[in-house]
Amino acid sequence: MTNIILLGPPGAGKGTQARKLVDEKGMIQLSTGDMLREAKASGSEMGKRVAAVMERGELVTDEIVIGLIEEKLTSGAASGGFIFDGFPRTLAQADALRELLDRVGLSLDAVVEMRVDDEALVSRITGRYTCGDCGEGYHETAKPTAKEGVCDVCGSTNLKRRADDNEETLRQRLMEYYKNTSPLIGYYYAKDQLRSIDGLAEIDTVAASIAEIVG
Ligand code: AMP
Repeated sequence: MTNIILLGPPGAGKGTQARKLVDEKGMIQLSTGDMLREAKASGSEMGKRVAAVMERGELVTDEIVIGLIEEKLTSGAASGGFIFDGFPRTLAQADALRELLDRVGLSLDAVVEMRVDDEALVSRITGRYTCGDCGEGYHETAKPTAKEGVCDVCGSTNLKRRADDNEETLRQRLMEYYKNTSPLIGYYYAKDQLRSIDGLAEIDTVAASIAEIVG
């Protein structure tokens, strides 16, 4: 069992690669972004509180996301291992994750840094959409649906764009990444857990680099 963090700016391909690991290696994806979007869609009190923060591209509080991860980690074991996707995003979250893993008797095996450049991120983010039913991800030019408006995987026509996938919000999300999240690169490098890969390569090439690390 291997537990990994996928680290990288918005649009680096973390979600795409996490889905592949789930399908191919039976790992469990823990995406705080997905959990927060679910909370928002369900109309819960917490969901209402985070909605505006997310739409501005800012980070929600450490307390909220740590609570979400704690709930998942303590409510079941993953035989294939966990993929932390979009978490941790601050040094405080990284410390909290270490404590949580200790508490449940798990360890972190690797932190995969997906390197991409900012220009690629804008076109990746502004062109992407997802099937609202099965979660498959698409992109206007890089990976369009075979039939316009219909999901290749499940046939649904419920294709959606994220509210925060616009150029202006992306600028704020990138700022948050450089300010709060990129220090984690040094943090995990110092712990000898960082493995950096080229996130600009083709999806399958990136997947192969990650497979080498996951084993
Ligand atoms: P993502 O789907 O990972 O791009 O996350 C979408 C948005 O959810 C982010 O822009 C933040 O507002 C919020 N979010 C997701 N994960 C975290 C986290 N670990 N810490 C703080 N905010 C988060």
